[in-house]
Amino acid sequence: DSLAPEIRRLTDKRSKILGESYRLFYRNPVHLVRGQGQYLWDKQGNKYLDVYNNVASIGHCHPAVIDAVHQQMMQLNTHTRYLHEHILDYSESLLATLPAEINRAMYMCTGSEANDLAIRIAHAWSGGTGIIVSREAYHGTSSLTSGVSPALGSGQPLAAATRLVAAPDFYRNQNADPGAWFAAEIQKQIDDMAAHGIKFAGFLADSIFSSDGVLPGPRGFLQPAIDVVHKNGGIFIADEVQPGFARTGEAFWGFARHDVVPDVVTTGKPMGNGFPVSGLMAKAEVLASFSDALPYFNTFGGNPVAMAAAQAVLNVIQQEELQAHSLHTGQRLLAALRTLQDKHECVGDVRGAGLFIGFELVTDRESKQPDKALALNLIEALREEFVLTSVAGPYGNVLKLRPPLCFQEADIDWLVSALDRCLTRLRG
Ligand code: PMP
Repeated sequence: DSLAPEIRRLTDKRSKILGESYRLFYRNPVHLVRGQGQYLWDKQGNKYLDVYNNVASIGHCHPAVIDAVHQQMMQLNTHTRYLHEHILDYSESLLATLPAEINRAMYMCTGSEANDLAIRIAHAWSGGTGIIVSREAYHGTSSLTSGVSPALGSGQPLAAATRLVAAPDFYRNQNADPGAWFAAEIQKQIDDMAAHGIKFAGFLADSIFSSDGVLPGPRGFLQPAIDVVHKNGGIFIADEVQPGFARTGEAFWGFARHDVVPDVVTTGKPMGNGFPVSGLMAKAEVLASFSDALPYFNTFGGNPVAMAAAQAVLNVIQQEELQAHSLHTGQRLLAALRTLQDKHECVGDVRGAGLFIGFELVTDRESKQPDKALALNLIEALREEFVLTSVAGPYGNVLKLRPPLCFQEADIDWLVSALDRCLTRLRG
């Protein structure tokens, strides 16, 4: 047993008193005690570079969020059955970032709850139950959302009305017309639903296909697919839990890279920078089919403290110009990672939008055979260099590089030099 005694004590304690579904990162687990900006510190005082956390998206422990939460917590925290200005002011600010057609906002605490409600809205709007998602999609932990989350693996049966489309992996499947190809994939699944007596309700997708391996695709390629969704009476739900809030740099919302207007947008993780707040924004007419039939109350969703946190996040993104920063820093990071591609044969593809980058490892570039073992060894080796990240994709061979948006030039140097050393050591 090579674990330090303190780490061993904590892992033993976890396995005795926590539910066994919890999974830790790393063979040598990290015991974090403090965070600031893009940096984290462990119990022993080691400083880590966070290249993974998109919850603390404007930086760990951002003082603006702490102050907003603290001030409001001292004043009042209650729920949405009383009048309060924060929820209205925030909704105005939030809806101003979205296309004008999306003009209603609702609040919950997790991405799962937002997607769960979105699916119920799709059912109500269409009168159907059929939901299309991508092959490795993850949309949440509730019964409805886990039924559309193939990423959970074979232990989690998909809902009978769920259909999967191939992820838009244009590294492995080069395609002369990505838009037409993807639209045809969607149509095929809608036809399959019809053949099985299932009415199509909607297409639910994270526009950067994060758990499918970070697949930004060419700008605009989603457009024909969304047209197919609408022609067949379904809605497009943009799951912005990962690409939203300036992450992709090119736009404030991930879907906006494709010049499409979703019917429903769901958010979570970065919305409160760690304070649990999530949202669902929709076209009023799409929402009406649900709202006319049912009330919605979420005890903690939209409370004044949550709204204060979310407002602070939005203000900071604007004041610190984090969308432009994400775009430019992301471009510099992509360029630096591509210099590693010149040097290391095992780096098959480097792709991304803003500070959301996939770094794909292969046994050789000719066969493009995924190198999962190398990816796993690489994240372990990076951890020993105090760089934290993880993997994604159906083969588990894509490093998902998604740091807090305040990532700087010196951080690029730290990450890229650590990657270079680790790849040299692991692949020679
Ligand atoms: N959608 C996507 C795309 C996600 O990445 C996640 C979380 N990993 C969720 C939904 C669910 O969010 P939460 O864990 O807040 O319920």
